[in-house]
Amino acid sequence: MTPTVRPEWTSARRIVVKIGSALLVDRATGRLRATWLNALADDVATLVDTGKEVILVSSGAIALGRHALGLPKGALELEQSQAAAAVGQVSLAHAYQNVFQARGRATAQILLTLGDTEERRRYLNARRTFEMLLAHKAIPVVNENDTVATAEIRYGDNDRLSARVASMVSADCLVLLSDIDGLYTAPPGTDPAATHIPLVDAITPEIEAMAGDAGTELSKGGMKTKVAAARIAMAAGTDMVITTGKPLHPLRLIGEGAVCTWFIAPSDPVTAKKRWIAGQLEPKGHVTVDVGAEKALGQGKSLLPAGVTAVAGSFDRGDAVIIRNAQGRELGRGLIAYAHSDAERIIGKKSGEIAGILGFEGRAELIHRDDMALTRIRDE
Ligand code: GLU
Repeated sequence: MTPTVRPEWTSARRIVVKIGSALLVDRATGRLRATWLNALADDVATLVDTGKEVILVSSGAIALGRHALGLPKGALELEQSQAAAAVGQVSLAHAYQNVFQARGRATAQILLTLGDTEERRRYLNARRTFEMLLAHKAIPVVNENDTVATAEIRYGDNDRLSARVASMVSADCLVLLSDIDGLYTAPPGTDPAATHIPLVDAITPEIEAMAGDAGTELSKGGMKTKVAAARIAMAAGTDMVITTGKPLHPLRLIGEGAVCTWFIAPSDPVTAKKRWIAGQLEPKGHVTVDVGAEKALGQGKSLLPAGVTAVAGSFDRGDAVIIRNAQGRELGRGLIAYAHSDAERIIGKKSGEIAGILGFEGRAELIHRDDMALTRIRDE
């Protein structure tokens, strides 16, 4: 088969690249894989020289720090990971600074927590910082701020973090450098019948089922978090590609037709606000809609209380919730116009009855279409 290079790669102007710990840190010695990093820096410098903007999302802080602190092998307690990250992040940032300085580029360290992308004001602030750095041709290197991120407020994996960053900066392409060259119909290590999937244009339940659970000791995400990342990226209009980062020069290889799985975003433009809604990692609850409402949403209509059969979770007015169909499949996400206690009382009712039930005049829609980001629904 002759290798093909996707036009999405050739035309991408703003690219986010996620680098996993297993690529950057030698598992046996806990040391940085310097040859690999230098080759990667060459690839990044070449992309930047040809007019592209590159943001790196790099793991490796915990892997480097745990070795430096002499922590035991195996799973770490949260506090141990946080301490390891605090130590390792210094080496990580330093390593990037060295390789990019040698290529005449400034490096910027950006540490994010979940709140920085879930809260709109902080999200907009962070976005401005990225824009400024890129305008000055610096290379932003992002990681989760593991030292302060407790269990409830952390991404936990850099797959989804990188998708949130890609969505925040409206990247054209997100590259996940992995230890595998893409998505397979089943885990290829255990199932000899597994076949590689070169292209995905919608996250269907079948695609979700193909993503097993497995992560390794060094990398938090398995294929599952990668598919979750694809969902966020695609909803934001960003194409995503999974390829192996094992060889030297993995980015150059994408441009030479390396084996990859491409997740192609729908081409209809998404507003910045919808992009932000779609990427919310921690919706506060969900609403279940009936068949009629599902159809209406597919036609671009708002969600009215009449089409909702159930609400769950604890949300306030303006919080993000997941919209599910009768089978439980996620149709999209939206900002709900009523708090849970009120929503519960008006579902199944006509909008004209709302004032009578609640005693105040609220919005006719439970979720307005402008406050809603739908997952692409396949034309049946
Ligand atoms: N933020 C973690 C680190 O730098 C990695 C998370 C992940 O592997 O996805 O070590």
